Amino acid sequence: MLYWDYAAAAPPYDEVMETMEQIMKLHYANPSSLHRAGTEAGKLISRAREVCAGVLSVRPDEIFFTSGATESNNLAIKGAALQYAGRGRHIITTNLEHPSVYESCLQLQKMGWEITFIQPDHTGTIDPLLLAAAIRRDTVLVSVMHVNNEVGTVQPLQAIGRIIKEINPRTLFHIDGVQGFGTFETSLREWGADLYSLSPHKIRGPRGVGILYVRQGITLFPLLSGGSHEGGVRAGTENVAAIVASAKALRMTNERRKDVVARILPLRNRLLQFINTVPELTVNSGDYGAPHIVHFSYPGMKGEVMARKLEELGMVVSTRSACSSKHSEPSRVLLAMGKDAATAEGGIRISFGDAHTLKDVEALEQAILKAVKDLKPAEGGRK
Ligand code: PMP
Repeated sequence: MLYWDYAAAAPPYDEVMETMEQIMKLHYANPSSLHRAGTEAGKLISRAREVCAGVLSVRPDEIFFTSGATESNNLAIKGAALQYAGRGRHIITTNLEHPSVYESCLQLQKMGWEITFIQPDHTGTIDPLLLAAAIRRDTVLVSVMHVNNEVGTVQPLQAIGRIIKEINPRTLFHIDGVQGFGTFETSLREWGADLYSLSPHKIRGPRGVGILYVRQGITLFPLLSGGSHEGGVRAGTENVAAIVASAKALRMTNERRKDVVARILPLRNRLLQFINTVPELTVNSGDYGAPHIVHFSYPGMKGEVMARKLEELGMVVSTRSACSSKHSEPSRVLLAMGKDAATAEGGIRISFGDAHTLKDVEALEQAILKAVKDLKPAEGGRK
């Protein structure tokens, strides 16, 4: 089996697994306990916070650990909305966002907030001027993702950040950085980010832990009530092993980033070129998108049918993102890009990792050709 679903979950580094095991064995004490074992566990968290802050070029007290990027996104959006409701109840986001952002906004809409969903162009890119036109005096937050998890398009964060601060300096800018961190440079200051979410398990770290950067001076309304962990923003006993291993994954991924991109970009380009030669298939991800994501459709064929066929042929792929794959309706992201329903329900996402080779891509191409050939005769019975 060849695994092509790194954007859903990447295999942890060996060093991450070793760290997890070692810390669970040696440092199981509660980091809030006052005895020595507890304070040692607490020091490990402080050190991990410093490492994350170093990688992101921010202050350690601006880093918060959560249970995953889903929670980081929920906390950033609802925590800011609830905290700053006195400033206004208008939020801007896009039709491309991950469900943890999109559904958080819909939930706030039901609670009385006004949400503007910005429509992308046909490539899946947000026009900063379109977003600028939506900013008002009562806009408390703008949330835009760095790299889209389905098609890999990259948003012009610096232009968006600059425009927000020019029009309304009090409007907060949240970036869902989950799919961008391993392949692009992170420049929180240049982007003008106030809040930034990361998911360690997408960058070969552990699952069940998330990172949220909160710029100094910003307060979030806590979504969980309990103890005063994480500066009172996120109650709950910290997962020391996962936090320390996350810091390790963040640093390793950052150090390897340029080499990994140099290796996988030609592979991605080759695969894109190949898919373009198959008449039955339509490429949805652009040449300038993220180096680790290729997205294509077999219009008229459900993505799940194609994915199952590819799995029979030894290729593990995704239909869109793992978080949306249980929905059978067409992809919201592809529809927002102006694709027709047949294309939007026939999507396949291939996502690369650092272990992939040219031989793997050649094998994938052969599997795609065979899958198309095998599924094609079912013309009359297409689902
Ligand atoms: N945002 C994006 C863009 C994602 O791809 C994901 C993971 N599918 C998330 C947020 C949620 O991350 P987690 O799995 O850590 O909750």
